[in-house]
Amino acid sequence: MRIKLDLKYELKNFLNKDIQYTIPIFIPHKGCPNDCVFCNQKRISGQIKDVEPNDVKNIIEEYLGYYTKERKIEVAFFGGSFTGIDISLQRAYLDVASYYLKKGAINSIRLSTRPDYINDEILTMLKEYGVGTIELGVQSLNDEVLQKSKRGHSAYDVERASKLIKKYGITLGHQIMIGLPGSTLEMELDTIKKSLEMQPKQLRLYPVYVIQDSELYYMYKKNAYTPLSIQEAVMRCKKIINECQKTDVAIIRLGLQSTSEITASNENIYGPVSDNFAEYVMSALVRDKIESEIKDHNLEGILEIFVPKKYVSVTVGPKKINKIYFENKYNVKYIVKGEN
Ligand code: SF4
Repeated sequence: MRIKLDLKYELKNFLNKDIQYTIPIFIPHKGCPNDCVFCNQKRISGQIKDVEPNDVKNIIEEYLGYYTKERKIEVAFFGGSFTGIDISLQRAYLDVASYYLKKGAINSIRLSTRPDYINDEILTMLKEYGVGTIELGVQSLNDEVLQKSKRGHSAYDVERASKLIKKYGITLGHQIMIGLPGSTLEMELDTIKKSLEMQPKQLRLYPVYVIQDSELYYMYKKNAYTPLSIQEAVMRCKKIINECQKTDVAIIRLGLQSTSEITASNENIYGPVSDNFAEYVMSALVRDKIESEIKDHNLEGILEIFVPKKYVSVTVGPKKINKIYFENKYNVKYIVKGEN
């Protein structure tokens, strides 16, 4: 059997990475008064180097040196709680970024923060510096899960902050975690439905990792927490993305690219860690699509799939996972061909 798939619907929420360049600036939040179970920043605080405003300048200059102006360039302050740090330090960081924004060397500024660190005063200040996107660390919209994760904020805080951010004309992003303590697939589907009702423009989905020296690490060692397997995390993310397909939200990150994004030093990490997690999820979405197309058909020993060239690798799947799946299940030869 031969089928032709454009996969535009199945993969429509994945933002094309070629659209812009990001200059990432990681601001560790040493003074954070919270104690999220998955975080190890406090315990390793002595090992994390402070980022000075002058470092921000150097990082921006370095990236500008090898980024071309063909694409838009965004400075992104990562680290989770930007608006929780000392106001004068926030202003000092933003002074540097807005200098480059005003002279046209970069096109936008984004930052990530907690929902309980958003209010009118903060948003007025961020507007003043031209911040264009705020990503909220939502993690879950189930209060019990938030409590078990010791997030220190409620689902209501997320609603309030999301509304306020949009009121100020700032692009809203949500970050959601899969596999938090006490969380189930049903709770995560409920979280995504509620999140989508708040109409974020962008979404990051992270499976929970157990990082050495976090509270979750000690729970894991005492068998009080079991991380998701990669298969389970992929299945949950796939179902969450099925919900996202009903909207135009852009999924700008699915899992972490490498362990260096999670940890500043060499801590151990457990859980569904994979350098190509997103590819596994996309392959699972494509697999479902193919399965729905071949249902009730006689495959006659061959399954030949034609897809746009850029989707050949996810159609075959990492480690040929889709090829193996169809060849074993349907006793066919699975062939993928790319088309322009
Ligand atoms: S993850 Fe939680 S504990 Fe860690 S820095 Fe962010 S808010 Fe603080």
